[in-house]
Formats: sequence, C-alpha cells, structure tokens
Amino acid sequence: DRYVFDFAEGNKDLKDLLGGKGANLAEMTRLGLPVPPGFTIATTACRTYLSTGDAPTALSQEIGEHLNRLEQVIGRKLGDPDDPLLVSVRSGGKFSMPGMMETILDIGLNDQSVQGLAKRSGDDHFAWDSYRRLLQMYARTVLEVPDELLQAALSPGYAEWDVSTPEQLPAAAIERACGALQEVIADYSGRPFPQDPLEQLDLAVRAVFRSWVTPRATLYRHQEHIPDDLGTAVNVMAMVFGNRGPDSGTGVAFTRDPGSGEPGVYGDYLQDAQGEDVVSGVRNTVPLAELESIDPRSYAQLLTAMATLEHHYRDLCDIEFTIEHGRLWILQTRVGKRTAAAAFRIAVQLVDEGVITLDDALLRVTGDQLGRLMFPRFDSRHDVPVIARGIGASPGAAVGVAAFDSVAAQRLASSGRNVILIRRETSPDDLPGMVASTGILTTRGGKTSHAAVVARGMGKTCVCGVDSLVVDPVARRAVAPGEVVIEEGDLLSLDGLTGFVYRGDVPVVASPVVEYFEGRVALADADDLVRAVDRVLRHADVRRTLGVHANADTPGDAQRARRFGAEGIGLCRTEHMFLGDRRRLVERLILAEGPTEQEAAFDELLPLQRADFVGIFQAMDGLPVTVRLIDPPLHEFLPDFTELSVQVALDRAAGQPDEEAERLLAAVRRTHESNPMLGLRGVRLGIAIPGLFAMQTRAIAEAAAIVTAEGGTVRPEIMVPLVASEQEMRLVRHEIESVLAKVAEETGGAVPARIGTMIEVPRAALQAGPIARCADFFSFGTNDLTQLTWAFSRDDVEASFFPRYLDAGVFPVSPFESLDRTGVGRLVRLAVEEGRKANPDLLIGVCGEHGGDPDSIDFFAAAGLDYVSCSPFRIPVARLEAGRAAS
Ligand code: ADP
Ligand code: MG
Ligand code: MG
Repeated sequence: DRYVFDFAEGNKDLKDLLGGKGANLAEMTRLGLPVPPGFTIATTACRTYLSTGDAPTALSQEIGEHLNRLEQVIGRKLGDPDDPLLVSVRSGGKFSMPGMMETILDIGLNDQSVQGLAKRSGDDHFAWDSYRRLLQMYARTVLEVPDELLQAALSPGYAEWDVSTPEQLPAAAIERACGALQEVIADYSGRPFPQDPLEQLDLAVRAVFRSWVTPRATLYRHQEHIPDDLGTAVNVMAMVFGNRGPDSGTGVAFTRDPGSGEPGVYGDYLQDAQGEDVVSGVRNTVPLAELESIDPRSYAQLLTAMATLEHHYRDLCDIEFTIEHGRLWILQTRVGKRTAAAAFRIAVQLVDEGVITLDDALLRVTGDQLGRLMFPRFDSRHDVPVIARGIGASPGAAVGVAAFDSVAAQRLASSGRNVILIRRETSPDDLPGMVASTGILTTRGGKTSHAAVVARGMGKTCVCGVDSLVVDPVARRAVAPGEVVIEEGDLLSLDGLTGFVYRGDVPVVASPVVEYFEGRVALADADDLVRAVDRVLRHADVRRTLGVHANADTPGDAQRARRFGAEGIGLCRTEHMFLGDRRRLVERLILAEGPTEQEAAFDELLPLQRADFVGIFQAMDGLPVTVRLIDPPLHEFLPDFTELSVQVALDRAAGQPDEEAERLLAAVRRTHESNPMLGLRGVRLGIAIPGLFAMQTRAIAEAAAIVTAEGGTVRPEIMVPLVASEQEMRLVRHEIESVLAKVAEETGGAVPARIGTMIEVPRAALQAGPIARCADFFSFGTNDLTQLTWAFSRDDVEASFFPRYLDAGVFPVSPFESLDRTGVGRLVRLAVEEGRKANPDLLIGVCGEHGGDPDSIDFFAAAGLDYVSCSPFRIPVARLEAGRAAS
C-alpha cells in the first residue's frame, strides 16, 4: 500500500520490494556505514506504471513527503537557487543487471541553482560539469536523444582545448556545452529543459521505470533468465561529489578478487570523477591499492567498511564508493559476481575462516559454475605469437575471428564462426554482439568495466584494457605493436586468465578439474582450485539423496562415468550396437522372409550384442546397468530411399539389375513412415517383430552369466521404451521373463534382473498406476516426453520458431534444456505419485538430457525421484546439484 521507504526503514531481505540496490542501501544505513541519505520507491510502483502507463496516484505525494524529510536532514532544499540539494535517481531491480537500466545524477540543477552551486562550492568547473552531466543524462534517459546529437553539442570545444572528454574542458567551455545541450533538448522534444526540480525528479523516476523495458534490459533478462514482470525499484539519494578536485574521486572495491578468489584489496579508483566514469571504462583508473598513498584516511576507512560488509554478508561484496573532499561515502554494495573458479575458492576459504559451514559452501557454488571449470584451456606449449596483453577479466580460452562491432559479430556468428568482439570499451548497446561472441576484448577499462562485468555474468572469456592495441572501428581493423594488423575475420585467441592476446589459434587442453576427475592428476598434486572443487563435491555426495547415474553406451564411456562418480548406468542405448558393419545384419533381419531367415539374422546379431554387454557389465562391476531395448524406427538402419532408388534405376538402365538392391528398395519403401517419431518404434517393434526383444534379452542374460562366472557382480535392468499401456508392458514382460528363465536354466544360475519401462509418452504417465504393477522401475525419458507433451519435434523446432518463442517469452528457456515444470513436470509428478501408490518398491529415475541440467535436477529431487542419469561429462555437475537440492 505504501510505495516509498526511507533507507533507514528497509533491510537486505526486502529485495522483492526495494530491489537489490535499495535493500542493500537500507542494510548499510542500518549498519551505520556512511551512506548518503535517501529513499526507495518500491518495485510495485514500477509494475503499476508499466501495466497502466501511469504511476500510482499516491506516489507523488509520498515522494514529496520523503523529499521534505530528506531536505530537513540535509538542511538544504532540492534545487534551491542559492544552495541546492541535488539527488540521484537510480534504478535497481531484485536481481543485479549491471548498467542495463538508467540512473540520472545531479537532479535539482537548473540555470539558477548551477550558479548557487558554483558560488557555494567556489568551483565553477565543478558546478557546470555537474549541470552538463544532468543535461546529458536527462536527454539520453528521459528523452532518448541519440548519442550523436549529444556528442555534437559537446565536442566543438574539444579541438580548441585539445581534450577528448567533456569534463576536461574549462568551466566556460562547459557552460557553453550546457547551452548547446539545452538547445538539443528543446529541438528534439519541442520543450525546453524543465527548470522545476520537482518536475525533473518526476520525469526521472518515470524514465527509470521505463528503463526496465528497453530492448537491452529485456535481452539481458532473457539471457540471465530473470522474469520480465518484476519491475525496478527507484532509489533517490542525496548526491555526493567525487568530481571536486584531486582530494575527491570515485571507485569500485571488491573484498576478494572476483576473478581468482584471492583475498586482498581489489578494485579501481579514479581521482576527480563521478561514478559512471569508472564503470564505463572511459578513463583509465588506478588500482585501488594506490588510494593508500592518495588519501590514507579514506583508504583506511574503506578497508574497515569492506571488512564490515564481508563479515555481515559472509561473502564477497562489491562496493561503489565516492570520496568528496577527503570524506568517504559508500554508494552501493552487493554480494559480488565472480568467476566460477573464484566461487569455489571463496566458498572453501570462508569455510576455513570459520565464516560459513560446508552446507553453506554448497549453496555458494552452482552446477553451471562447475561445468564452466570443466572447459578446456590453452595449451602452454605452443608457439602462436602473443601480440598484446591486457587484463584477464573473465577466464576461459576463446578462439575466434575478429569482429569490430555488434552487427559484424552477429553476422559472423550466424555463419557458424566463433567470434572475438573487439571494442575500445563496451556499452550496453554492444550487448547483442557480446551475446553472439565467444570472447570479448576491450582496449580500455579494467576488471570492473562494463565489458568485464557482463562477460563474467555470461561466462564468456574477456580481456580488458589492452591499451597497446589501436582500434579503428570504422575501418574495422586494429593495430598491435610491431604493426601487426588485425582485420575483421582474422583469427585470434584470448586467454581470459592471463590477459594474453594471440594472433592465430592456440591449441587447447583439458581443464585441471577434468584431469583430476579422470584420475590423471592426484589430489595431492592438484592446485587449490581442484582441491576446493573436490571438497565441495564430496560434501554434496554426503548430503544428496538423489543417485547419479550415467548415460553410456560403450565400455569406454562407462569407465569414464565411473571415474566421474556415476553410481550406475541409467541409460545404455542399444541402437548404436546396430550401426557400422552391423548395419548389414539389420538389413538381413528386415529383409528376412519367414522365421528361418529371421532366426538366422538373430543368430548372427546375438554374439555381437552379448560381447557389447560383457564389456559394459565388466566396466560397471557391482553397479546397476539399465539397458534400453531397441528404440528407433528400423528404417534408420536402412539406406536412404532416394539414393537407393537412383542406384537401382542406374543398374536397371545398365541392364544389370541387382536383386539384393531391389529387395532392399522394396523394404525401404515398405518401412517408410511419414511420421517416424510416431511410428513403428520402441515397444511397438518388440511386439511387431517377434524374437527381436528376445534376442536382446538373451544377449543381456548370457553376458550377465559370463561376467558372473568370472567373479563379477552384475545388476542388469532391462528397460522397455515408448510404452503407453499396461497391456504392452505385460506382453513384453512375459517374453523377457521367459527368456531370462530359459537362460537361467541353460547356464545353471538365475540372473537377477529388473524389468521396467521408460515413461516418455504422456499416456504412460496418465496410466502410471497400472503400468507400475508390471514394472520394477520407471525412467522418465524427458526428451520424448517433452516432444510429445508439447507436440513439437526437437529436430525441427529448435532452429525454426524457438528463437521467436524465447524472445516473446513463451518460455524463458527451451523446454529441452530445462524441464518445463508446469506442463511436463506435472506429468512427472503424477506418474511418480500413482506409480508408487501401485508399486511401493518402484524405483524411479530420469534419463533424458534434463538429468544433467541444474534447474531440472532440483525439480527431480523435489519430485522424489531416486536418481538422475546424464552424460558422463555432466556427472560432477549432477552430483553437485543433487547435493544443493538436498541442502
Ligand atoms: P548502476 O546500477 O548502473 O551501477 P548506479 O545507480 O549505481 O547505476 O549509478 C551509476 C553511478 O552513479 C554509480 O557509479 C554510482 O556510484 C553513481 N552515483 C549514484 N548515485 C550517486 C550519488 N548520490 N552521489 C554520487 N554518485 C552517485
Ligand atoms: Mg552501480
Ligand atoms: Mg525416447
């Protein structure tokens, strides 16, 4: 019901209402840190504004009341002609969206109060530069005046004074620039710049509301999976000034290195500057440690504030601060973004420092981060020349072709190239190009520049501040020292850890984390990152209740899965066992006329299948192996219809018809289906081609007997695909059981095997109870279940209309990537509930690709599954996420 809250009223847990920035400003105010006073307009007001086109009626009165209080506290009035209070109007949603929305500084200046400010401060330059900033930000944010027009108003003085940025101009020149900006504003909008400070404030607040829905903010949200309907809060805060000379300045500080996780003083500082100057990377900053010699007192105070914040939040914090005439002000803090490596290192450091528990540590890292650490890196033994070095701002090994603007980056990426985007600095307008690129290189700015922050957030490689590289975006080229020219399309390699830039493509090697998982490096010889990962992962194993199995079709995959921690195979596909040389045998099976020929074909396939299973059972000694009986339509094993037709026609024309080819063609024609995905496949094959599942079952049982005789322990689980009805399951189960009994008799020992089914057809989920009565286990095949529930085929839709659907927000992420909880997930829950009710011993897992997706794993844990199964490489990610889900 209220929309406006004083900083002293909120706290850090009110992010939904006050946004992240507002909640943390409130928290810092309560902690007694030097935060300029102000108030926060809640996200609810923004939501009303965006849905109705107008702010809530009560809002302006509430703002007025809070403003009065602020004026009393400070002892000055907003825009007072003699001694004006100035405020900033800052965006800030629930989730941090760095630089994506708008902030307007120095509200309250007008043609009179700028004079007052100049007189009071005794600093004309400062006053006019502040006014210039307000006019510029107002034009850009409230009126959306194109940047070219603003630059045209600012730049005429540059040549005369030999400068390249407006704040370097002398006061009188800035005053002239202010006049020019006012003309642009009046021309562009048909109204002069509002002199009334309250009107400025009102327009600024609305502009910040609107900045929630700009294309770049929307794109960022979709990229980061932030819901569109949250809206932004607006923080109105008394201005403090870092642009009042050398004893003033502004900076960004991190309580630990967000790149590596090392503890220490970390950040950037810029003397005589206002906030945006640092973040935009327009001017070159100095390392924060140099503040110690510039202003020892403020530096000491800052360190104390940093310690207070880290202690309070029990995590790495990043902090924006400003020093005005030697007085420190904290303007923002949040739990800082960090690289994947830093996340693991910091979590374990904090455990060692006694700040958090291992359970907490588990929640400080994510499966996505672990996945990132498993990416390959550059091989150090290569001779590709280094052409320049910058600051490694977001780690990774990126190889790609150079692009000098967003458009080129998108074009090259859509032609299938990996792209390195090269810019002097990036602005939010470069976002589409950054999304399209593998790596980002800037020549200005440090680890806290826009490029660095955004790249880290997206997990892309970034090297900043490569100042020896001279970029000419118009000519689409850059020149490195030694006249090394890089043109659009040239190959480059970026090392986001060391900051090295290479001309050419550097070979990449496996990550140390993977080397450790693979058993090629012992823990004792591994670096602290590997040890941190290991420690957190072991704790995840202790906590998790969800089993983690692997999808593996070969002994090699099975062994790797085991090394990565798999507790069984949740999906061993058998169709791969019918490819290659064996395709001929499948052809014979399909061409067989009569049971004798068919029998003969089975007899040839049997020993081959058996040998495959022996290898896998050996690799998984003691662990369950779920073998899925053959699933795809048979024609997938036959030659292509068109090619075969042409061949047959040619043979005939040459007067040499090939009888075998003719028969094959007839078979291809016979088995052709217009909707193979919905045709003769899965359990339907088993029922339509008697003997097929029996042969596979026999191969499994005989292989199990062989490995058992060798002294191994085999736990086969036979899985029937595409079942939709209880009757199908009964028929097939009967056949499987009789084969198992026969083999047991022949080999003189029963093979304990489970018989179960995939739940991948919506009807199977709806019939889970009856099906469960004749199944020992269920395994959700969520790929097919998703396709069949949504009625779209993954092979066809991902490239055609999915991009449009994602843009339009039909779903925030592809339902093939992350399980659609409300639709497909509902079927999963139903099947779990009714399946268990009918058969309390029912074992339930999932073997679709969702089994390796962090968000989906969380869902499966909550739905009460026994295990997830995923590709061997995703096993550690799944272990970690399962541990998090249980914490
Ligand atoms: P963002 O969310 O994009 O970082 P901010 O709201 O933090 O935007 O504001 C941009 C810059 O302006 C920051 O560097 C901040 O420190 C500075 N700033 C904001 N409010 C004030 C203020 N009241 N006094 C001085 N600087 C400010
Ligand atoms: Mg900020
Ligand atoms: Mg399937």
